[in-house]
Amino acid sequence: MTDDSDIRPGETCLHHAPPEDAWLQFIGVIHTPFLTRADCPRQGRANGPVCEVEVFGPWAPALEGIDAFETIELLYWLDRSRRDLLTQSPKSDGRTVGTFALRSPVRPNPIGTARVRLERREGNRLLVRGLDCLDGTPLVDIKPDRCAFTPQAPDKPGVS
Ligand code: SAM
Repeated sequence: MTDDSDIRPGETCLHHAPPEDAWLQFIGVIHTPFLTRADCPRQGRANGPVCEVEVFGPWAPALEGIDAFETIELLYWLDRSRRDLLTQSPKSDGRTVGTFALRSPVRPNPIGTARVRLERREGNRLLVRGLDCLDGTPLVDIKPDRCAFTPQAPDKPGVS
């Protein structure tokens, strides 16, 4: 989305070359009750509604062991965002800050992250609380919460 009609006073954008292809692949889709941006919380809440993270069939074996974690981290692609703003005016009052000083969905690579509570797993579906994305948002990755995770690989010599 690079239409300039929704630029707010004080905002600036970059007119850039088409991006190089990083060969990103979506591994699933997130089903939420949030149908419009107005419905979405700015950040997910622990007591938010249960949402369903559907992992596509070929990636289902990659969920093995995820049930051991109460909290997991999701990365998702905020697919309905524009991607060209350098500065933004979240309050629409002309005062701006840089995109990288915000957690706005509007960013060059619109990756959203959320730590969510894993309520349960049903096959290739994870039922979670704590999301803030629109229904149908593509899923990029799933990781155990970094605080709960102990590396499985052997220690690296000389590195703590
Ligand atoms: N929790 C993530 C983070 O911090 O990286 C995302 C935060 S972002 C402020 C959440 C907002 O992005 C929502 O309130 C909604 O307005 C917007 N949003 C949600 N899903 C989106 C999507 N698929 N495409 C574009 N915007 C989306």
